Amino acid sequence: MSSESVSKESVQTVPSTSSTSSSPNEVSADGRPLLTFAAPRRAKPARHLADLSMAERRDAVAELGEKAFRADQLSRHYFDRLTHDAAAMTDLPTASRDRLAEALLPSLLTPVREIVCDGGTTRKTLWRLFDGALVESVLMRYPERVTICVSSQAGCGMNCPFCATGQAGLTRNMSTAEIVEQVVAGARALAAGEVPGGPGRVSNIVFMGMGEPMANYKAVIGAVRRMTDPSPHGLGISARGVTVSTVGLVPAIGKLAAEGLPVTLALSLHAPDDELRDTLVPVNTRWKVDEVLDAAWDYARITGRRVSIEYALIKDVNDQEWRADLLGRLVKNRLAHVNLIPLNPTPGSKWTASRPEDERAFVRRLEAHGVPVTVRDTRGREIDGACGQLAAAAPEE
Ligand code: SF4
Repeated sequence: MSSESVSKESVQTVPSTSSTSSSPNEVSADGRPLLTFAAPRRAKPARHLADLSMAERRDAVAELGEKAFRADQLSRHYFDRLTHDAAAMTDLPTASRDRLAEALLPSLLTPVREIVCDGGTTRKTLWRLFDGALVESVLMRYPERVTICVSSQAGCGMNCPFCATGQAGLTRNMSTAEIVEQVVAGARALAAGEVPGGPGRVSNIVFMGMGEPMANYKAVIGAVRRMTDPSPHGLGISARGVTVSTVGLVPAIGKLAAEGLPVTLALSLHAPDDELRDTLVPVNTRWKVDEVLDAAWDYARITGRRVSIEYALIKDVNDQEWRADLLGRLVKNRLAHVNLIPLNPTPGSKWTASRPEDERAFVRRLEAHGVPVTVRDTRGREIDGACGQLAAAAPEE
């Protein structure tokens, strides 16, 4: 579907309901489901070591007739040495290597195209999954950190009309290992010195690529655990370096708070009032601004983590000073900060980034309420790698 056919006016609102499954009546004017929570049933990717807990890996290895401790060895190769090449696993008996690698380290992501900018320190990779679905991840190296932005679904069912991913609908949920593999691939490139700046490590992971992470909850939590569990269970990245974003699936925010994982929650608010948010973020028709903010404040209280309120500034749509005041009143005195995102225009979209003077005025209004504000670095914009631009277009051949 062409992105031109999606406009603010084309998105209809539906009555609020607490159900998490979409009703067949909830369609936008162009006939697409307004919200798709349940991913289409598809064949699943092959089982991979990163899908499994260590206990499950030991069982899987034993089922192959190998000693259980081989699971630990295999895990060290994958998570520490970032290898899935059986030939490199010289501490494993030759006969075991191929069998274990074949059974537990199947190839899940095939690189289709890589685009680099910022002198090679921003790299967007388009991946083909086993069933042909396309997803993208972006690696961004800064002087003091390396961030990888990962996809959690092929496509997205949340239908935000300003977002390139949302225009294409939801293809399917990604598996835990498919999500983790995006990080391992980036870590491998860094360790090999392929990213300018010398060999390095991944310090931050943001779930801000394709998909709504909270709509693929189980796989996303599994991936966060693999990313943050210490070696040899996982990659050993600090949970404080992991950010899970959501447009506001309230029950899932509550579940995340109870996981005991000190990850940062990024709430994509984009409008402080229900009237506008119903159109910009259609999930608002299910859970209103006050409900989603209550869930965010509960998250901050339970985890002690400052919530990031994400707000894409869209010219003449949500960038008025009165909306900054309203947002400021909602966020002030909370364990939260506002992250303003200059909108990345998508091809054919009528919406574009705010004027610089309007952006400055918005920041001033928020600061007047004592709300901490940052304006997001727009790294990756020139390669369509910034948030809301990961539409995974197939390359022209
Ligand atoms: S902004 Fe996020 S939640 Fe909304 S359609 Fe795009 S990827 Fe999905």
